[in-house]
Order: sequence, then structure tokens, then C-alpha cells
Amino acid sequence: MSFAELGLAEPLVRAVTEHGYTQPTPIQSQAIPAVLKGGDLLAGAQTGTGKTAGFTLPMLQRLNGGKRPAPRHVRALVLTPTRELAAQVNESVVTYGKYLKLSSEVVFGGVNINPQIQKLSRGVDILVATPGRLLDLMQQGALNLSSVEILVLDEADRMLDMGFIRDIRKVLAALPPKRQNLLFSATFADEIKALADSLLNQPQTIEVARRNSTVEVIGQKIHPVDRDKKHQLLAHLITEHHWFQVLVFTRTKHGANRLAEQLGKSGISAMAIHGNKSQAARTRALSEFKSGKLQALVATDIAARGIDIDQLPYVVNYDLPNVPEDYVHRIGRTGRAGATGEAVSLVCVDEHVLLRDIERFIKREIPREVIAGFEPDPTAKPQPIQLRSQPGGRRNNAPRHGPAKSSATSRPAPRPSSATPGKSSPSMSKSGSSIGKSSAMPGKPSQATGESRAAPRGAALLGRPAANAQSRKLRSGER
Ligand code: AMP
Repeated sequence: MSFAELGLAEPLVRAVTEHGYTQPTPIQSQAIPAVLKGGDLLAGAQTGTGKTAGFTLPMLQRLNGGKRPAPRHVRALVLTPTRELAAQVNESVVTYGKYLKLSSEVVFGGVNINPQIQKLSRGVDILVATPGRLLDLMQQGALNLSSVEILVLDEADRMLDMGFIRDIRKVLAALPPKRQNLLFSATFADEIKALADSLLNQPQTIEVARRNSTVEVIGQKIHPVDRDKKHQLLAHLITEHHWFQVLVFTRTKHGANRLAEQLGKSGISAMAIHGNKSQAARTRALSEFKSGKLQALVATDIAARGIDIDQLPYVVNYDLPNVPEDYVHRIGRTGRAGATGEAVSLVCVDEHVLLRDIERFIKREIPREVIAGFEPDPTAKPQPIQLRSQPGGRRNNAPRHGPAKSSATSRPAPRPSSATPGKSSPSMSKSGSSIGKSSAMPGKPSQATGESRAAPRGAALLGRPAANAQSRKLRSGER
């Protein structure tokens, strides 16, 4: 099926063809006709599936030829969780809409608000925004949402994770009742369903990737290693295999800075992006990485959200994420739109419980491979994991060395799985790794997750005060 056969007009087909797309991805094949019909849509699509074009193309077509927006008014509003994603969605709008006479703008925090107020004063057809800055603009009277015809919530699950539900509700209250609503989410957890129920009117539901699955084309591997040898192992892998465009995830901002420095000392050009970096520094790092000047980009989870690089070949989990869903989000950075990719995780003894939870979540065991010269010490004891940078002292609610707590108490219990944590895989026995055997025994308390990072998914939706405080911290912290 071609883009034209999906019902798209010639100027849009011409733009995507020039951009190099020869045929629609599965989410596009389903979403484009559904949105063109004008009804609401609930779409389950992981990042990398081509979902942005899936809503942008039909949105542009529906807006095309309509009345110009009045001053300060917008006709279509796209909400995204991060600044980077907002910028990328707007780039797509500009690229795909290049042969149409529609205007678009992007607004997000961290930069001067005045130029944004200025641009909005004339009115825009499409506004892409992060929720916080959008509310600021509304409160300053710079924006009127009463004529919005189409609303898109992109990566809605992540917006809820980041504690944006209250902001979203305030935005929704300013919209006219009659409009088209499109909700995109990588996962359909209960809180997304609750949001969808309150927002969408008889939506068409489409889902392209198996729920909570990892993208099939991504090769996944675990390299067991001692905690203090991780940076040497990473430098070795990058150098040995001539890896370029490696996206590396660390747990903390401080860890990201330190690793970028260590890689630099090993002759690997690397920069860090995280919430403490200015927007200008983040943009520069990203553009150098995209252009191939930087060999490695080291990022925290939230900063990395929205990074879209065509066919990103390597993702490295330098630290395992402590929320299993984040593993899927992270490795979704590679293998984009049908390309193949590799996701490698460096796992030390402290992270066995995290690994067990991830494997349960994705319902598969990830092959282990010990790299010669980096064999982990089989007698090493797990230590508590520091989940945040702590420059001025402890910032978490939970005690750093508090009583050992099972990971299952810090978030909803993982779904039951056929995967057997702790069972040796062929590659594991080859390597003799102890991952999954010692501290990773199901049900056995571990210090590894003695501190919980985020509010349980949906806690913000439920309005639990402690959870909201934690969510706010997350928003202002690791972004
Ligand atoms: P997304 O899931 O929207 O973040 O898109 C992932 C990547 O796929 C982006 O780099 C797009 O440029 C690319 N992409 C989107 N649609 C297509 C298509 N039909 N053919 C090839 N690449 C695509």
C-alpha cells in the first residue's frame, strides 16, 4: 500500500517521497486513514515505528484549506513530554508540510518565553508544546485554545510517568468540546486507559507492536562485568568494534558527566545530556551526535526521550534502568523504522534484581556474554544502587542505606512470565556468569532497589500526594 493509496493528497505524498520514504510503516497504514476520517484514535505504538508521520500527515491534510487561525489561536495542538521530542515533532511537521501553506510553531521551557509570545500573537495552525510552557503561555494570555480542532497527546504514557497529568487536565479544560483527539502511547497501562476513557470519544484503537514487547529487530545482549570495570569495558567495546553513534544510558546526571569524561580520556569523543545542561548545550550535543562528529552520547533516561536518529545502530545500558518499561524505551532508540540495531547492557552484581525484573517484563531471557579480560568476580557482593546524582546531599525520600526492600515493593509487581529468572541460558553457562542466580532470586529481598526512583505508574493520575511530589522531582530532576 502506498502513501497515495492511504488517501493522502499529492503535496504530502511528494514531501514524504522526497524525504526518502517509499512506503508507509504499519502504524502509518492504520493511523493515516483513521485520522483522515475525522474520528478519535487510541494508538499503541512504540517509538521508532514511524508514529510521528502517522499523526502528522493526516493532521496536515485535515487542516489544509481551512480558515486561517485568529491572533493567538491555534488549530491543532500536539503535546509531548520532552523538549527534544517537541522539537523533532515540529521538524516533521515542517518537513511533511513543506508544500502546504500551514504555519507551525514549537514551544517548550528552558528558553526565553518572549519570542514564543511574539510568534503566537499572529496565530498558528499547528502548535507543538510541552505541557509546562504551554500553561505558562496560557496564563500570560499569549494563547487561546478555544478553536483547537485537533489535539494530539504524543507519548502519553511518558507524560503520565513524568507527572504531567495535572497540567494536561488544565490544558484539556481550555479546549473546545468538539474536536478530534489522538492519543499515542507505547504502553496501555491502566492509567493510560483511564485517560483515554475520559478524553476520547468512541476511538478507533490500533496497536502495532505487541504489548510491552521489545522491538523484534533489536539484538539484545548482557555483558556481565564488575561495577568498577564498566567504563573500561565500554571503551573496549566501542574501540574494538569501531562503534559509531553509540547512545549510552546512565542512571544519574553525575554518572553521565563522569562517563563522558572517562570516554574522552580513552580517545572516544563523547558528550553528556541531562537535565542540568542548558537547552543550548543539549541541542549542540544532539546535533553533533546526529551529524556523526560525536562517537558517543551519554544520556539519562528523560533527557534521551525523544532522541530520534535514523537507524541509530547501538544503544548501551551502562546502568540498567530501575523501571523495566524504561528498558523498552531505551532500546527503542535503535532498530528504528525497520532498521536493525544492537542493545547492549553492562550488568554488575548490584543490578541482578533489575535484570530479573526486565526479563520478566519483556518475557524473555537476554543472552549473556562475558568479554575476555572483563570476567566478573564471582565472589563480589551486591551494594546498594545510587539512583540519583546527589551533589548537595541525599535527595531521595528513601534512605540511601535503609532497610533492604524488594523491587516489587517500589512499583507494581511485574506481570507473570514464562521466562524463568535465574535459569542458565546456553550463553550463560558458556560464560559462567552468575547473573540471575545470587541476589536475583525471585522474592529474595535485595539492597539493589532499596530506593525507589519514580512514583508507581499512575500514582500521579490517582493524585497521591507523595507520588506527586516524587513526580515533580522527576520532572525537575532528570529531564
Ligand atoms: P517515529 O517513530 O515517529 O519516531 O519515527 C522513527 C523514524 O522512522 C524516524 O527517523 C522517521 O524519519 C522514520 N520513518 C518514519 N516513517 C517512515 C517510512 N515510511 N519509511 C522509512 N522511515 C520512516
